[in-house]
Amino acid sequence: MTRLTILEYPDPRLRTKASPVGEVDAALRELIDAMLETMYAAKGVGLAATQVNVHQRLLVADVSDAKNEPLVLVNPEILSREEIGTMQEGCLSVPGYYEDVNRAHRIRFAALDRHGKRYEREAEGLLAVCVQHEMDHLEGKLFVDYLSELKRTRIRRKLEKDHRQRVTDSAPGRAL
Ligand code: ZN
Repeated sequence: MTRLTILEYPDPRLRTKASPVGEVDAALRELIDAMLETMYAAKGVGLAATQVNVHQRLLVADVSDAKNEPLVLVNPEILSREEIGTMQEGCLSVPGYYEDVNRAHRIRFAALDRHGKRYEREAEGLLAVCVQHEMDHLEGKLFVDYLSELKRTRIRRKLEKDHRQRVTDSAPGRAL
């Protein structure tokens, strides 16, 4: 069991654009398991490989209350988006901040599973938002990019100060 370190904003490595996964092999499955463990331990509902400094197109998610429905998305693509709405988002890489973001609340996506098998499914509500949030990470994008510059700067300064003071933030909530 391995727990990975989650990069925190404004770490420039979070701006890296991920490359497609070539082969879903044993090494990738090990990474998937470590990402799931890291996500559950951090009480997040989603985690992109970018956040653990692996720049491959891979993300994990689990929006179930019982935390027993892990989803693995390798090389994900969004096939359709509907019902744009606002939902409050947080991010394990931006600890302690929750802000409203507009996204599609109903999507259809395709991805490879942990065995490299392609699947398609619909997602709505929190899962739809989560998949889009994590896919943004793979492009080097963060939810704070949707906020005003003033708000983003305030968050960045506060987090930089927290890092300097070595404050560990354990704010509860559904961080993505
Ligand atoms: Zn995030």
